[in-house]
Amino acid sequence: MFRIFLLLILVFTGLSCSTQRNLDFSTTIRFEYSHVGHAWEEKVVPDRWVTEGPWPGPEDLSDSLAGHALYRAELKIMNSGTVLYATEFNSIFGEYKTTQDGLDSVVQIFRESVRFPKPVVSADLVLSVWNDSLGIFHPMLSLRVPDSGLVPFSPPVRQVGRDFFLSGEPQGKVDVLILGDGYTEADTAKFFNDAGRLSGHLFNTEPFLSMKDRFNLRAAMIPSETEGIPDPVNQKWAQGPLGFTYNFFNSDRYILSSDPGMIMNLAASYPWDVLLVLVNSRKYGGGGIYNLYAVSASDNEQSPYVFIHEFGHSFAGLGDEYYTSQIAYVVKAGPEPREPNLSSLPGGRPKWESLLSPGVRIPTPWNQSGYDSAMVEIQKKRRELTASGAPVSEMEALFRHEKQLTRFFLSPDSLMGITGAFEGGGYLAKGVYRPEIDCIMFSRNRPAFCKVCESEIRKRIEKLSRN
Ligand SMILES: [Zn+2]
Repeated sequence: MFRIFLLLILVFTGLSCSTQRNLDFSTTIRFEYSHVGHAWEEKVVPDRWVTEGPWPGPEDLSDSLAGHALYRAELKIMNSGTVLYATEFNSIFGEYKTTQDGLDSVVQIFRESVRFPKPVVSADLVLSVWNDSLGIFHPMLSLRVPDSGLVPFSPPVRQVGRDFFLSGEPQGKVDVLILGDGYTEADTAKFFNDAGRLSGHLFNTEPFLSMKDRFNLRAAMIPSETEGIPDPVNQKWAQGPLGFTYNFFNSDRYILSSDPGMIMNLAASYPWDVLLVLVNSRKYGGGGIYNLYAVSASDNEQSPYVFIHEFGHSFAGLGDEYYTSQIAYVVKAGPEPREPNLSSLPGGRPKWESLLSPGVRIPTPWNQSGYDSAMVEIQKKRRELTASGAPVSEMEALFRHEKQLTRFFLSPDSLMGITGAFEGGGYLAKGVYRPEIDCIMFSRNRPAFCKVCESEIRKRIEKLSRN
């Protein structure tokens, strides 16, 4: 038994050492490419290889993959099959595939980037897409990483940055970088104030609160010529340097940028594992894509909630647990969702079996019909306010009213703190289940993650940091 144990230690140590010998952590490489196609066909077109500063992530492969994502990038020695580095991520293209245009085979192009430590041996970058029906990753591109002709990143001419708090060297900590879009030079102090205020809410929420010493927090912005970002529904077209806009995929509150070039160039001046973006606006909105970035409007009454909710998507690959709001995607019941906090109960049990409350009934009964009927009115009013471009204050008042109206259904004493399987989640009222009656990924009511979401975030923090 002891010999086997010793052998295992040697095998794992050997792998780890050889991996480290094959990577040069003083340089990060960013591969930029275009992702082209639609729901039924997609391909990747290479653009260029860029070099950045030292690799800020963990040095070894103990950052094993969580298995939540649609795409995977691997740095591989092809003749031996040795994987030097691997990461998983979702992308805007991946979301496009679920929109009506994507399903109607309308071809679109989105620019994307993937970063990894520089290999010192001949290695290929392999990009793969998850195939739901086969349950495997399918390679889309395999390309030798060049050892010459790489372009050094060019920092923006005008940028300002600040360290909020540093707990240690980048490779041993989760490096969060907050970027600003739509802030003019005169808004510089406001940007750092917004970043401090909203990150304060994040680090007052578990598990970030008790694991704060595993984080470094920095913020940076490029001054914008004009204030704010495009808001097509209200015919506002001011464009910030990072390319963020409201109404992405024709969903008014959805804020994204499909121009990673400027985002990554600004970010490359700082060590970062995760990006959070603040857009200088009071109008409600945000977005978050796993291992890409999270974005939130800065000044809405609900901004603290949106900031944390979107971070849940981008940091831990959590899914939306809500199902009553209008969305940009076409959603149909399918196989077990990839997200760790959603389940269709295959075999009658959820994937978070180990976290279930003792003796809880599966599915767990709750007053879904009462909640749904309250939300019908709220969502009708919300659509009217959105379509008419009503003042922000009216939408904020509606959200306060919603909280009052739904409190009764979402916080009954008998179900608080119970981890079970509550029907309704992942944009579907039926057939998809969430772990608790309420969570930051479900509603704006409760300022805490459910136990399953919290546990996933904890795991991700542990993967990206050493204590
Ligand atoms: Zn949750």
